[in-house]
Amino acid sequence: MRNLTDPPRPLAAGLGNSNDQTRRHNLSTILTLLAQDGAQPRAQLTRRTGLNRSTIAALVSELAERDLVFETAAPGGGTVGRPSPVVNPNGRIACLAVHPDLDAVVVGLVGLGGLVHGRIRRETAGVPTAEQAVALAAGMATELRRRHAGVRVVGAGIALPGLVRSPDGLVTFAPHLGWHDEPLADRMAEALGVPAVATNDAKAAAVAELIHGAGKGARNLVYLNGSRSGIGGAVFTGGRALGGAAGYGGELGHTLADPAGGPCHCGNRGCLETEVGVEPLLAALGRSAADPDELDALLASGAPDVRVELERQLDVLARSIASFIAAFDPELVLLGGFLGSLFDVDPERLRLRVREASFAAISEGVRIERAELRENLVIVGAAELAFAPLLADPVSLSASA
Ligand SMILES: [Zn+2]
Repeated sequence: MRNLTDPPRPLAAGLGNSNDQTRRHNLSTILTLLAQDGAQPRAQLTRRTGLNRSTIAALVSELAERDLVFETAAPGGGTVGRPSPVVNPNGRIACLAVHPDLDAVVVGLVGLGGLVHGRIRRETAGVPTAEQAVALAAGMATELRRRHAGVRVVGAGIALPGLVRSPDGLVTFAPHLGWHDEPLADRMAEALGVPAVATNDAKAAAVAELIHGAGKGARNLVYLNGSRSGIGGAVFTGGRALGGAAGYGGELGHTLADPAGGPCHCGNRGCLETEVGVEPLLAALGRSAADPDELDALLASGAPDVRVELERQLDVLARSIASFIAAFDPELVLLGGFLGSLFDVDPERLRLRVREASFAAISEGVRIERAELRENLVIVGAAELAFAPLLADPVSLSASA
C-alpha cells in the first residue's frame, strides 16, 4: 500500500526529474492536500508546499481543467489587497465503496474529500455468498448513480472481514462469510464497470481514521476494531500500512491472548478475538443477540455479572495492547466498533492495565483513544483506497466524463 497519510513532498524542477515528472508529482501533492484536508486558500497551498505562487496557480488551473478541483471567491471579500481564491476538491468525482458483512451489504458513494453522497444498506436473508454480494452491490450502485446523476464514478473500494491478498484483491479466506479464494476485486470491477480494489475492513477503517478521524496527523498507529465478525487490526508505521509479504499484516485479532482459551475460526485456541468480543459478553448475560444500541445500554448498565465480564475483557485487551505497543512502538492506539464501546465503559482501567503490562519506556507517551467516525467509517476508508491511484497521478483520469 502506498503511503496514504502523507501527501507526497513537492519536487523542484530540474533536479534530475523531467518537467513532466515534476509537474505530475506536484499535481499529486496538491490534489492529496485538498482531498485530505479539504478546501483551502491558494495562498495556503503555496505556503504548505513551498512552491512559488505562479507554479501553484498553474497546477491548480490544470487540476480545474481536469475537473478535479474548482475555485471559489475568498470569504470576506473587500479587505485590503486581493484575497486568495479558495481551492476546493471536486466532491462530484467519486468512488463507490462496498462493504459485505454477515447479514447485509452496504454500498456508499463517496466524493473526493470524503463527502458521503449516499449510502444504501440491504439486509440479506443469511450470510451472503460472494456472487450474491456482487449482484446486490451492482444493483445498489446503479440506484446510487441514478440518485446522484451529476456525480462521476472513477473507481470502487471493497472492504470485508477477512484475509485479502494485495495487490490483486483476492479474498483468500473470510471465515465469518465462509468465502475461500474469491477473486472479489476482479468480479466487482466487472459488475460495477470501474477499476476496483479490495482490502480488509479494519484496514479500511484505520485509513478513514487516519485521514478524517481521531488518527489525523498520526504516522504510527495500531488500530483495533471489534464487530460480530471478530477483531480486525491494522498497523501503520511511518505513515505506511504494514502489509507484510502478501498483504495480511496486522491480523491482530489472531494473536494469542490466552493459551487456555476457546477455539477460534482460524484453527487456533485463545486468540484475542475469542477472548474479547460481543459473544462472551452476551453469554455472560444469558443472551444470544443484541443490536448495537441495546449493547451500549447493556455495557453501561453496571449490572454485577456484566461488570465482571467487562473487566475481564478490558484486562485481556490491555495485555494484548501492551504486546502490540512493544512490537510496533505506535504513538496512538485507536479502538473502533465494539472495542470502542468497551473502552468507553472504563477508559482509565484499560489505560492503567496497559501501563502495568508494558515496558514503561516504550508505552509512556502512547495515547489510547476511541475511534471517531461511526457508521461511515468502513465506507469512507474503502473509498479512500479506491481514490489512491487518482491521487498518486491525477493525470491518469481521462478528461471525458
Ligand atoms: Zn484465531
